[in-house]
Amino acid sequence: MGWSERITQALTARRAADGWRQRRRVEHNSVREIVVDGLSYRHFSSNDYLGLSQHPAVIAGWQQGAAASGAGAGASGHVTGYSRYHAQLEEQLADWLGYSRALLFISGFAANQALIHLLAEKPDRVLADKLAHASLLDAASHAPATLRRFAHNQPASLTRLLTTPCAGATLVVTEGVFSMDGDSAPLAALAAETRRTGGWLLVDDAHGIGICGAQGRGSCWQQQVKPELLVVTFGKGFGVSGAAVLCDAATADYLEQFSRHLIYSTAMPPAQCHALLAALQQVQQGDARREKLRANIARFRAGAANLPWQLMPSDSAIQPLIVGENHAAVALSQRLAQAGLWVSAIRPPTVPPGTARLRITLTAAHHSEDIDALLEALYDAADK
Ligand SMILES: *Cc1c(COP(=O)(O)O)cnc(C)c1O
Repeated sequence: MGWSERITQALTARRAADGWRQRRRVEHNSVREIVVDGLSYRHFSSNDYLGLSQHPAVIAGWQQGAAASGAGAGASGHVTGYSRYHAQLEEQLADWLGYSRALLFISGFAANQALIHLLAEKPDRVLADKLAHASLLDAASHAPATLRRFAHNQPASLTRLLTTPCAGATLVVTEGVFSMDGDSAPLAALAAETRRTGGWLLVDDAHGIGICGAQGRGSCWQQQVKPELLVVTFGKGFGVSGAAVLCDAATADYLEQFSRHLIYSTAMPPAQCHALLAALQQVQQGDARREKLRANIARFRAGAANLPWQLMPSDSAIQPLIVGENHAAVALSQRLAQAGLWVSAIRPPTVPPGTARLRITLTAAHHSEDIDALLEALYDAADK
């Protein structure tokens, strides 16, 4: 089969399965509100949980950074793309999170690919939570190491995999807060199992960093676990974009010497590092925002108790409502849109078949009345 036929077939199948994904052109986004096609909606699909993308200090950080150092890095960090802002940000992140080193990456996706491709050789193995993010599972399935997946958040399932002998090293991979389910990994149990057998633990805390733990230090800090490898991303709770890998000095040197994602890719713009320094400060001082977010989560969960759809057991900003079939999830999302509420439907293959859902995300930027409006629209939709 040639490319044209293959493409046509895949697109036809995608349409037939109610799985078509459409990017929408957003005209305005204030975290609490978005404007799409000239219509304004209350916004419940942002990962900008603290609303920092709109924070004046973070915006000023970008502007001042660009004024001082230009729009782009101009080269890989190994050539001339590594600035004092990169160095400052790496030092502050390492210090804040209690690691020897931090290394910046252009995105969380790139950081995960870089780590797993560099570490997972033959005859190593990667043992990943079944629901781990696509960037982790893709990297592991394309790496020379063997990939096995353990049952979601079940250390006993990991233990069973660990008892199988392996000639190489073992990397255990999980998220801190799961992106599509909103629940937290039992990090202490996973870390204990991993260490007992001499493996390393990688925690991707894309949805925990900035949000949980003292000063927003994330899931690991909250659960008092220090994984060998911690990935934090800046496109969610930090409101910007980019990522960092936190690790010991030797591992950082190893990445610096051998990671193709670092060596052969233009460094993050220095202005972005400057914006991230401002965002980091806001995260560290963000108790009031985290408190507001927690209050919004509590209000939503209390109000949602009698909805006919299953609300996942999550105390994070991610509050998934399981609808089941793709068409039903899309229909519910459309009904909410008619009521002026933007809530994305998430369908397979992003989530397991039969668990299409509304992925409701709450932020510190929401007001109580926004939560109430969402609840009212959901109960209205349930009545129809
Ligand atoms: C969003 C996300 C990523 C990707 O991070 P980007 O910086 O957006 O590329 C990686 N892991 C998890 C768990 C995520 O939710």
